[in-house]
Amino acid sequence: MKIILLGAPGCGKGTQAVKIQNKFGIKHVSSGDLFRAAISSGTPIGNLAKEYMNKGQLVPDNVTIELVKNTLQAKIEDGSLENGFMLDGFPRTLDQAKELQKFMDIDLVLYFEISNDKVLERIAKRKFCSKCKENYVAGDDFTTCTKCGGKIVRRDDDDPEVAKKRLEVYEKQTFPLIEYYKELGILKTINADQPQEKVEQDINVLLGEV
Ligand code: AMP
Repeated sequence: MKIILLGAPGCGKGTQAVKIQNKFGIKHVSSGDLFRAAISSGTPIGNLAKEYMNKGQLVPDNVTIELVKNTLQAKIEDGSLENGFMLDGFPRTLDQAKELQKFMDIDLVLYFEISNDKVLERIAKRKFCSKCKENYVAGDDFTTCTKCGGKIVRRDDDDPEVAKKRLEVYEKQTFPLIEYYKELGILKTINADQPQEKVEQDINVLLGEV
């Protein structure tokens, strides 16, 4: 199954993606993670992406589309997506969505609907293990991961000012995708204001139906 996870930064789609991957074997492909890996490796794409990411802006479409398409193509060829995949953070603009549609048919778009207040509150609190990606919240007293001993960190772009900018960008550039996928008849809405366990249950029901 080919799924897109759509929603504002901090809506919980990354957390749910890990759960879906573990339960259904559908692979999590995050464009943000691809860019962060490119930054860590110091590649030209990484150096370019960093400038945009640190300001809360989108990386230009041509660079993003190329990176995601090449990644999907390579993973399809090596067989690692045989149970399907979930795209997290891509597409984020109408042009990206249209390019993806030319490349392949998507089965389902899970739209995580959430209020702005809740998003900013969640981003302000979130931290994670730099090694295994386990999530933590600001109130937790840990500095190292209880699962793997990795260092617990915050994302640079979770700084409150950058987070506000990312939300503005989402409203302007990504919001139109909801209508686009509604018209294609493949959009299903999840109430992401709910506690994590309830969101997970709702997704399981939806995936069972598809
Ligand atoms: P994320 O981890 O999905 O929140 O993405 C972090 C940052 O990576 C975003 O704020 C953008 O700067 C960049 N990024 C990730 N995905 C895309 C995309 N589809 N189009 C443009 N920029 C992206």
